[in-house]
Amino acid sequence: MVDAIDSEVIARNVGTVLDGIRRAALNVGRQPDSIRLVAATKSVPPDRIRCAIDAGVKILGENRLQEALPKIDAIGTREGLSWHFIGRLQRRKVRTVVGLFQMIHSVDSLELAREIDRRAEETDIEQAVLLEVNIGGESSKGGFVPSELAAAASILDRLPHLAVKGLMAVPPLTIQPEQARPYFHELRGLARSLTSLGLVRVRMDELSMGMSHDYEVAVEEGATLIRIGTAIFGARRG
Ligand SMILES: *Cc1c(COP(=O)(O)O)cnc(C)c1O
Repeated sequence: MVDAIDSEVIARNVGTVLDGIRRAALNVGRQPDSIRLVAATKSVPPDRIRCAIDAGVKILGENRLQEALPKIDAIGTREGLSWHFIGRLQRRKVRTVVGLFQMIHSVDSLELAREIDRRAEETDIEQAVLLEVNIGGESSKGGFVPSELAAAASILDRLPHLAVKGLMAVPPLTIQPEQARPYFHELRGLARSLTSLGLVRVRMDELSMGMSHDYEVAVEEGATLIRIGTAIFGARRG
């Protein structure tokens, strides 16, 4: 059970993050409602997730399918609530993920994209996805290398059951939020240059970037989806 204090803390944290988004948006003349908060709920149990939902969270982001399935069961897929997949996705799990999650943020290869398209075709849906970009060129991270994005997008433009909506990145860890700004700026620049390719189906409406320590900077640089865990639920245990 979640005690009353814990539930109050989560509610207050959600309020603080929503205020931070609003402030950062207004700083740069953006509409605050053009930015959506994704609560990153890895390792957070359903009763604490419900507290966040009660406080106004509408999108839940999960990293691991095995962990997500029982939580989706427990919490359900009620009206106005959606689940996004934000972690690394293995091809053999694609079949279960497609259709269950409204958006997959973490499409990091052509092979994965083709598998999603194939499974989406089987159930006759269009799966919304973002292309994950390895913005800091880190060997430990997956994602498209910026220089290969344009060619990849042209190929993905022809997959009828894949709806590319934009880009996502997890930049290298920085000490100061400001140090992440060049990465966010670069991601937005990449989205712009892909838009100028004149692709038919690939869209660049969404930029999923910014986490607990740097989301305000990300919003200033154009984020439309920010993924927040720690700032809502506290430090992860285990
Ligand atoms: C855990 C996670 C987040 C949230 O990170 P916090 O620093 O806890 O806000 C965002 N994006 C991804 C992909 C994550 O795995």
